[in-house]
Amino acid sequence: MQTTPYGLRTHIGILGRRNSGKSSLLNAITHQKISIVSEKAGTTTDPVQKRMELTQVGPVVFYDTAGLDDTGKLGQSRIQKTNRIIDRLDIAILVAVADQWGEFEERLIKKLESSDTPLIVAFNKADVALPDGKLTDWLIKHKLQWVKTIATEEKGINELRQLIINTALEKTSAPRSILGDLVTADDMVILVTPIDSEAPQGRLILPQVQVIRDLLDNNAGCIVVKENRLKNALNQLKVKPRMVITDSQAFKQVDADTPYEIPLTSFSILFARFKGDLQTFVNGVRTIETLRPSDKVLIAEACTHHPLEDDIGTVKIPRWLNQRIGGELRFTNKHGADFPDTIEELKEYKLVIHCGACNFSRRQMLNRIEKCKAAGVPITNYGITISYILDIFDRALRPFNII
Ligand code: SF4
Repeated sequence: MQTTPYGLRTHIGILGRRNSGKSSLLNAITHQKISIVSEKAGTTTDPVQKRMELTQVGPVVFYDTAGLDDTGKLGQSRIQKTNRIIDRLDIAILVAVADQWGEFEERLIKKLESSDTPLIVAFNKADVALPDGKLTDWLIKHKLQWVKTIATEEKGINELRQLIINTALEKTSAPRSILGDLVTADDMVILVTPIDSEAPQGRLILPQVQVIRDLLDNNAGCIVVKENRLKNALNQLKVKPRMVITDSQAFKQVDADTPYEIPLTSFSILFARFKGDLQTFVNGVRTIETLRPSDKVLIAEACTHHPLEDDIGTVKIPRWLNQRIGGELRFTNKHGADFPDTIEELKEYKLVIHCGACNFSRRQMLNRIEKCKAAGVPITNYGITISYILDIFDRALRPFNII
């Protein structure tokens, strides 16, 4: 069965202190026993995920997280994992027991406010304690919505679910189109996808699949070819295609084989815009001119895969960059959720180069961009970097009117 990829789901996290009832709340919201519930504080050690369809919202993923007040060495590693989940959230639910409210909750709210993450407060164990007037005034001042719940008895859960739905519909970014402003109905687009050792067996990779679906959503059509069949395809078409979109690794050949008047870009550049911030990435790539041997460069991929022989992130981009600057840069490769946790760690790098992040939510990628900005470290992406190194930059960015 095909399920909606993580990057296209609304990400909802359940946060709070240990033993505030986070796991019971997730079980009550989803009507399933997903998280282990125990009176013992700290039962949830690693984040638990539940994918489901939420009425009116569509595909979502819930995260039940470890308590952010955990202690000890193990506790710190759990907190680190929870913090990484926070970076990807479209909506946060802070679970609190009213008579334990304090600096911990207010610090967490400040953190969520700083990343503009919509927040709902659930006062759980409402049979034990209720928020007093001072606390509700504070919540009103901070424009926060709250609900009272007793998760173990499924009380207040319908109200909470409705608040989640309203928040998702009002405050999270509406689904965007990858190509909606670049094509019109009946346009024909050529997609170039090399089938080399990096291509997975028997299928296309997610950015390619998502672009095909997006073209169909926009009533446009496409022809999918390998790079060595592009010339034939162009010759056979009676009308010029609206544009050619290539895997970045075939940029050089596709640039040579595509007449200049036909717009050309890459899947990765489309995703730089769809998931991230194209202008920031375009500004970031110019840092390549200032790189010197021994400078540190971070290469980050949003998914984990076994590195291949001529892997783009670990082999090709480092090789091209070293050739470009005429010396050896120091590269660090990170995968999946692994990304510098602190601004200090990020500051070690002169440049961050990120993949298209097809399996991240947009908020997750934007949070990484914000982190880099806070550290004063330029960030760019794979496709933009490759087009820059191969001197196809102006052409590859032309469809977006951005230079
Ligand atoms: S490396 Fe990045 S863009 Fe490529 S498939 Fe993985 S998440 Fe998607």
